[in-house]
Amino acid sequence: MDDVDFLKSVRIPDQSVRIPDLFGLSIGFFDPMNGGKTEALIAELRRAPYFKTNAVAYNSSLNTRERDALVIDGERPFPAKTVSSIDEVKEDLERRIRDHKSFHFNRQSLGKIFEQEGIPQHRGYPLRVVGIDEANLFTLTPDDAQKMLDFLSWSREQGLAVYLAGLKYDFRHLPFGQIHAVLPYVDIQLSKKPVCMALRDNGETACINTANHTQRVWSGEFAEEQGLSQYLASEPAFDFVDKDGTHFFDQYLPAPFCDQTMRIEESKDGRIKYLPVCNDCARVPYKNETFEIYNALVKGDHSFGFLGQTKLTTAILEFLVEEKWVEQNADGRLVPVPYYRHQAGGYASKQE
Ligand SMILES: [Zn+2]
Repeated sequence: MDDVDFLKSVRIPDQSVRIPDLFGLSIGFFDPMNGGKTEALIAELRRAPYFKTNAVAYNSSLNTRERDALVIDGERPFPAKTVSSIDEVKEDLERRIRDHKSFHFNRQSLGKIFEQEGIPQHRGYPLRVVGIDEANLFTLTPDDAQKMLDFLSWSREQGLAVYLAGLKYDFRHLPFGQIHAVLPYVDIQLSKKPVCMALRDNGETACINTANHTQRVWSGEFAEEQGLSQYLASEPAFDFVDKDGTHFFDQYLPAPFCDQTMRIEESKDGRIKYLPVCNDCARVPYKNETFEIYNALVKGDHSFGFLGQTKLTTAILEFLVEEKWVEQNADGRLVPVPYYRHQAGGYASKQE
């Protein structure tokens, strides 16, 4: 068994594999949020120059937290280029690869660091390693997923090693956009399973189970802003330890199932937080209520006032419309949006 086969079989990060053995392959880190995916990605990119190859990292402009950098815990940023689509990644790469070939170097200047459009590179080394952080933000629609598949296929032809870091699932434990269409084409999936960061028994005990999910929590203030404080008041707080070791007691609540899928801005100022959690500690309140309403609409029953909680019912209906589970028909009635198979592999509504 060679190193790559070994990696495929054990599915753990293993830096004993030489980067050149990964040329033409794609490698994915798809663990829950705040579990070490970006660290793992950066560690691989940092390894590249030792194998006399350059590396470039990209992240999505949808991520407003980190512009032209991959940042872990607000520490020293890793230079990256922020782009809005996978097409932009490809264009940028093609230009950089071409430029690298045209640079002059001699024995003295070979390997010297210089800045190429904001990213430190080594003179005379080819660019063959690519990192894409938050790959799930590049595969939100079937069209985007197809573009990612085309990109991976192009990278294979070019002999590039492509690292993808991202989420397979959202905070509801549901597939994140259309990332699943890409997974069968990722050659090696490495797992760096984080530890559950929840505190149990009224904050007395730290859970140390292996985490499977990304837990989203709302600050009390944010629940207030959303007009759902009274419902969430009946929900016990979600106590946890932050990445930097800070313990949070009675300050955060689990985000309800009907919260919107993407919340990046709010995580900047601590109104919401994300943490890795295990099956036992994961909490997504109002899942049942959301499905009660959705299932009623699927059956054509419009008497969904049965929840008896106006604000909650409104929040759920807004969610169902916003996330395109239902739409208004010509009579003004809410009807379920039909989902169809798409070519990239998965299901989507006609609107996508
Ligand atoms: Zn746990």
